[in-house]
Amino acid sequence: MTQTNTTKKRIVFCDFDGTITVNDNIIAIIKHFNPEGWERIAEQTIAQEISIKDGVGQLFRLLPSSMQEEVIAFSISNARIREGFAEFLAYCAEQHIEFYVTSGGIDFFVYPILEAFHIPIDHIYCNSSDFSGDRIEILWPNPCDGNCTNDCGMCKTTIMRRFPPEQYERIIIGDSVTDFEGAKLADRVYSRSHLTTKCKELGLAHSKYETFYDIIQSMSNERTES
Ligand SMILES: [Mg+2]
Ligand SMILES: [Zn+2]
Repeated sequence: MTQTNTTKKRIVFCDFDGTITVNDNIIAIIKHFNPEGWERIAEQTIAQEISIKDGVGQLFRLLPSSMQEEVIAFSISNARIREGFAEFLAYCAEQHIEFYVTSGGIDFFVYPILEAFHIPIDHIYCNSSDFSGDRIEILWPNPCDGNCTNDCGMCKTTIMRRFPPEQYERIIIGDSVTDFEGAKLADRVYSRSHLTTKCKELGLAHSKYETFYDIIQSMSNERTES
């Protein structure tokens, strides 16, 4: 018998917007405050005419820093957590699966929304923000390494590469095209929405989910089968 995957440590990289939360928080914030010109920037970003980093940076620069309190209050109160998330965290803890949040979201909503779940702070990767100038400025503490040229802002593949495939079974959970590069590196992909479409288009193996209960079930089945 050769040694198989079961000897590797399982590690989960979980997206935040549209994955842990039901909706995309950045879009919800911008739509709600509706600053002039946001639609064009959003379209260019979705069409990949400008990078995610550029697009998100430009969108928040449309909002004055004086709106800090309202923006933060709105983003926290608007968010809904996808079903089964707390149970999934408990499952990971019980099964000794490492859990990381890899989010293209912003600190001022990611940390408060996750606070109730007691995830260690060094297991949460996201962008940060600066309200000290006239306009809201997004900061990018987790840029692409030399292996990524997408100008991601928060680079998911850069983080994944710190956990080598020889030692880790890398599992990604996501919902959008921003998760696709990570999905290519992963041993297992849990997808919904645009990520499913993209995986299908390009023939990448994936398992669909709607709630975190689906993922718990799939991961438990996989263990008993192997
Ligand atoms: Mg997402
Ligand atoms: Zn990148």
